[in-house]
Amino acid sequence: MTFDATILTLYPDMFPGPLGVSLSGDALSRGLWSLAAKNIRDHGLGRHRAVDDTPAGGGPGMVIRCDVLAQAIDAAVPADDPRPKLLMSPRGRPLTQGYVRELAAGPGVVIVCGRFEGVDERVIEARGLREVSIGDYVLSGGEMAAMIVLDACVRLLPGVMGKEASGLEESFETNRLEYPHYTRPREWEGRAIPDVLLSGNHAAIERWRREQSDRITRERRPDLLER
Ligand code: SAH
Repeated sequence: MTFDATILTLYPDMFPGPLGVSLSGDALSRGLWSLAAKNIRDHGLGRHRAVDDTPAGGGPGMVIRCDVLAQAIDAAVPADDPRPKLLMSPRGRPLTQGYVRELAAGPGVVIVCGRFEGVDERVIEARGLREVSIGDYVLSGGEMAAMIVLDACVRLLPGVMGKEASGLEESFETNRLEYPHYTRPREWEGRAIPDVLLSGNHAAIERWRREQSDRITRERRPDLLER
């Protein structure tokens, strides 16, 4: 079973972009997931392939037309496609590691990337788009947000990460931020690796890591401990 991603965007050339290298890129070449980037403009209107128009009620910017976007979606995605259809949007459900896990466990995703002021509300309703936000800030388009969703999903797919275990201990999987890491050299600019990590005492190492993890979470993200 693979994880299939279809992206609807005005800038298909942005893909795979950073998803084409390293972990996600290797997994893409190995066929563990697939990526199809479709140009919304292929369904644009008239000689200029217009995709947007001015907002009803006035105000700045432009809005992506519902008829054009719906056509693009219908052409790219069969009606019985089981994949959730996401719309990247600052109003959306916040992306969390739990939500990523949920998406990664499914057949894939269809992701609509907004531009300008966003998309006509009616297409969100009519095509059942689920709005997803990557954080409380505003980007100029949904493409990079879509890449973040995909990057986070792909690394969880079976066979993508070398050691299956390396996904489980990480920040957010346990509502804890990760403990500090060290590697060679043993001493650098007068700073030594904590003795316990070189002790070979696995129980003590585990205890130290848990303490560090708790301390860092308490200091930086006390809100996580309440979840
Ligand atoms: N007028 C909108 C912002 C539009 S930004 C508002 O005030 O909410 C243009 C596009 O960028 C959006 O349609 C969306 O697809 C994408 N985008 C911007 N910020 C985002 C975020 N935090 N998460 C996900 N997508 C975002």
